[in-house]
Amino acid sequence: MKSFVSLFKPTAVVADVTGISVEWLRDCGVTSVGFDLDRTIIGHSEEKIPTQFLDHLRTLQQASFTIIIISNVHTKQRRARFDKIIREVLARGISGVIAVTPEDVGGKAKPSSAPFELAAERSNTSPSAMAYVGDQLLKDVYGAAKAGYTTTVLVRPYGKNDNLAVRYLQRPTIDLFFRLYHRLPIRKNAYPRRIKTL
Ligand SMILES: [Mg+2]
Repeated sequence: MKSFVSLFKPTAVVADVTGISVEWLRDCGVTSVGFDLDRTIIGHSEEKIPTQFLDHLRTLQQASFTIIIISNVHTKQRRARFDKIIREVLARGISGVIAVTPEDVGGKAKPSSAPFELAAERSNTSPSAMAYVGDQLLKDVYGAAKAGYTTTVLVRPYGKNDNLAVRYLQRPTIDLFFRLYHRLPIRKNAYPRRIKTL
């Protein structure tokens, strides 16, 4: 059983999702890869996932990884945007993407284990063969590790804007504390281009 503080330490850090290679995931014993949406594979206020990220998701899928997107969708507008993004992902040839939001698990949002557990269940994968990729220590790294995911990857927040609660309550407090504690990147240029296992 992992200690509470160790749940906030990702398996690896990398500048962006394109640095997460097929070989690295295979070495970790992973068969399904979950991604956070906002600031991991798309800007907070954007509606289109950058082509290089979509291409990478396709590469992973063609290498037979199941692709999952888990997002805390809080409002009707964000829900409509989420659905549009998922339709676009499917239309761009990444078929069978599994999408999970709090609506699917009785309103429970990350870092609750519920969305992570449902993602594993829907992809027929044991949590120990699941990876999760995100830009936040609390919602993404801690949430996934608490659900038993053995592989977690912290990426540099992509794009500019943030949800206000994330910007003012989460990033400067618990997220920063555990970054200092585990010596994780704080400045944007501190993330390695090639994935670095910790
Ligand atoms: Mg995020």
